[in-house]
Amino acid sequence: MNSVIQVDSSAAAQGPGAGDAVDVVVAGAGVVGVATAYAMARRGFSVALVDRNPGPALGASYANGAQLSYAYSDALGSPSLLKKLPSLALGADPLFRIKGAFDVGLVDWGLRFLAASTSAANAASTLATLELGLESQRAMHGLLERHPIAFDHLAAGKMHLYFDPEALASAAETVALKRRHGAVQEVLTAAEAIAIEPALAGSKGLVGVVYSPQDEVGDPHRFSEQLIDVLRRDYGVRTYFNLDARNAEFARDAVTLVGSRGDRVVGRTLVVALGIEAKDFLARQGVRVPLLPMKGYSFTAAAGANAPQVSITDTARKLVFCQLAGKVRVAGVAELGSRDLRVQPQRLAALVETARESLPDAADYSGIAGGWAGLRPMTPSSVPIIARPRERLIVNVGHGMLGWTLAMGSAERAAALLLGAGET
Ligand SMILES: Cc1cc2nc3c(=O)[nH]c(=O)nc-3n(C[C@H](O)[C@H](O)[C@H](O)COP(=O)(O)OP(=O)(O)OC[C@H]3O[C@@H](n4cnc5c(N)ncnc54)[C@H](O)[C@@H]3O)c2cc1C
Repeated sequence: MNSVIQVDSSAAAQGPGAGDAVDVVVAGAGVVGVATAYAMARRGFSVALVDRNPGPALGASYANGAQLSYAYSDALGSPSLLKKLPSLALGADPLFRIKGAFDVGLVDWGLRFLAASTSAANAASTLATLELGLESQRAMHGLLERHPIAFDHLAAGKMHLYFDPEALASAAETVALKRRHGAVQEVLTAAEAIAIEPALAGSKGLVGVVYSPQDEVGDPHRFSEQLIDVLRRDYGVRTYFNLDARNAEFARDAVTLVGSRGDRVVGRTLVVALGIEAKDFLARQGVRVPLLPMKGYSFTAAAGANAPQVSITDTARKLVFCQLAGKVRVAGVAELGSRDLRVQPQRLAALVETARESLPDAADYSGIAGGWAGLRPMTPSSVPIIARPRERLIVNVGHGMLGWTLAMGSAERAAALLLGAGET
């Protein structure tokens, strides 16, 4: 049993029998749920996929940073972030906020986050996520060999930019650790980086980069739509959209997902992949998972005169850039504890201004029609929770800043759990 989730066994209700049950009901059709449906269906299980939205990937997966950062698995909580936390909490960074400081859920999560932020815990979480990232890359390539779906997928490589020699030295230590565990990454000087990515010539004060040449990009919304077509056509997966899952009824031989309008989908196992909403849904089943939303924003703009080909993370300004279908997608902002999905104009403007400051010629910043906001489902350690707390219940949640990157490997692990293997 995964030590971070708590199960109250008295909450397992008695429900209807198996009847017309599928093998697996997947609740949530974000990238994690869609990938899970695929991993299950590929193994010959019959699958029903349920979402409250009219289509897949309309939650946190919709317009995220698009990065498949397989080698960048670094956990959020670290001694250096802890040092900066007091000034961040006071609003020193326009792209960082903490909401609801006196909320019990935030305090509980915060205490766990502090415990996960020691050097040793950070290294353990980073390596655990790296392992899942590398599994995800293999699983993604396996999928694309079997089903060459189109989602603006490119092996563009990725660079993390550093402007502070001390921060670069610390990143170099993490790179050395991850290389010993299979990451393909190297530290480059600014001049070496500019030789590979000329767009960085406009980056003021750059001291060096961490280069991950095998990292990729792709559109998670297109991916989910395309994969669902394959799932319906080739694997007979049934999809139930516009179904708001409220509850689950567990019986000896079946589990029934119950919707807000009384709709019922019966299966032998339920996989919960509801993103940030999983916390409340699972609590109703007596299963507690430590999840906190971290709101982020993105915008997509016409490419500028000097748009990078390699995808870029500016580690000082905490934003990412990549090219997607000939446009430039920029994502950033971290509002810990915020559940409000509205795009706040001043926050979007801060993201645009920070992007302009970082790479002035990457995009046409003057013509941005609007932005998007989503809630990253964060665990305190940044490691997702993939567990089987009950015989008929699998949990695949908490993918935080890296859910698109980690979806395919997480799905493989969820399928392994169904087949009886261990959990993470
Ligand atoms: C600004 C931003 C940038 C990001 N950039 C990146 C990046 O570059 N690379 C990366 O790897 N990750 C990135 N992420 C993180 C990534 O987007 C998330 O980790 C990932 O989308 C989580 O996927 P999910 O399927 O778990 O959740 P979601 O995509 O939120 O899916 C959950 C699904 O459950 C459904 N649902 C919820 N409640 C119910 C209910 N009651 N009944 C039925 N259905 C329900 C929702 O409609 C939704 O479709 C970013 C996130 C943000 C916000």
